[in-house]
Amino acid sequence: MTDNIETDVVIVGAGPVGLFAVFELGLLDIKAHLIDILSKPGGQCAELYPEKPIYDIPGFPTITGQGLIDNLMEQIRPFHPTFHHGEMVASVEVLGTPEAPSFRLATDAGTVFTTKAIVIAAGGGSFQPKKPPIENIEAYEGTGVFYAVRRMEAFRDKRVLIVGGGDSALDWTVNLQPLARRLTLLHRRDAFRAAPDTVNKMRAHVAAGEMDLAIGQVVSLKGEAPVLEAAVVRRDDGSTVEIPCDVLLPFFGLTMKLGPIAEWGLNLNENLVPVDTERFETSVPGIFAIGDINHYPGKLKLILSGFHEGALAAQRVHRYVHPERKLTFQYTTSSTSLQKKLGVA
Ligand code: FAD
Repeated sequence: MTDNIETDVVIVGAGPVGLFAVFELGLLDIKAHLIDILSKPGGQCAELYPEKPIYDIPGFPTITGQGLIDNLMEQIRPFHPTFHHGEMVASVEVLGTPEAPSFRLATDAGTVFTTKAIVIAAGGGSFQPKKPPIENIEAYEGTGVFYAVRRMEAFRDKRVLIVGGGDSALDWTVNLQPLARRLTLLHRRDAFRAAPDTVNKMRAHVAAGEMDLAIGQVVSLKGEAPVLEAAVVRRDDGSTVEIPCDVLLPFFGLTMKLGPIAEWGLNLNENLVPVDTERFETSVPGIFAIGDINHYPGKLKLILSGFHEGALAAQRVHRYVHPERKLTFQYTTSSTSLQKKLGVA
């Protein structure tokens, strides 16, 4: 079924900059939906360095990547943003005029939005899974091969083969083991980069005979596509073995790609979206770009720059969403009306 959602603004990307934009838009009575291909908010901070300290967030001498995201989520709570995780924004169609813009935006999961403005906060682009070099793997994608777990129930009573040695591979091994008919974890060597506690849990399951651990690499897939039946695995000594499976979950990490944004008809500069520095608007009126994805003279790819850009973009978005209202500048410290929106007055 296709959802059709009407909203003031769609924010593409729930990284730190997209999250803070919700706050700046919310203060101006602008409702936002956020779409992110990842399964959780936080962009690079949560995905690439959740436990590393950041030292240049104003007012926080030190805060971890995940700590910053937790705080941002708390800060935007009064504005009740709606999150659409695990979906990639695929296409954008211009419906309105440059003076009164409106857009139809669709995700790869079939969700459709009609919106008055779009804020692209897509960072370095969408995180996309690195695919293993297996011939014809595409023929099984979406039926027997998955690069992310969106719904654990989909794997109940299936023969599951998980490939990889990092946190994702080990976390899903431990989480899916109770649901799967039989689960095998395959890694090229008997050493893992994941959290030691998760590795210990996996080894305990293996010792109890509740799952299998195999060492080697998948060289080919068997089964009449799109139905997967087995993976052929080459061991270190050159011998091969077939591991029967209905589902293969390769977790080989993520890369960042600009993805479909490149096809939206925006002017681009080496995969970045040029904007003006007054409104952070792109070459298409009503489409804004903030954070790591944008480009202008003097741009610094810092979180604090993205926060500033979100504040200025929100001012212009207000003109499109509430054209009849005059915008007056107010401080959160002294404006009762802003404090009411924040639920503190
Ligand atoms: P991102 O954090 O990249 O988030 C963008 C989001 O958009 C992603 O979640 C992505 O999945 C999503 N997305 C993209 N395209 C689509 C699409 N088509 N559909 C759906 N979703 C999409 N900055 C600092 O200021 N201080 C530091 O100390 C610092 N340290 C860093 C350390 C490391 C190791 C790294 C990698 C970066 C560091 N940075 C630091 C940079 C900082 O993380 C980035 O500037 C910041 O994350 C940019 O935020 P963003 O919201 O613009 O983009």
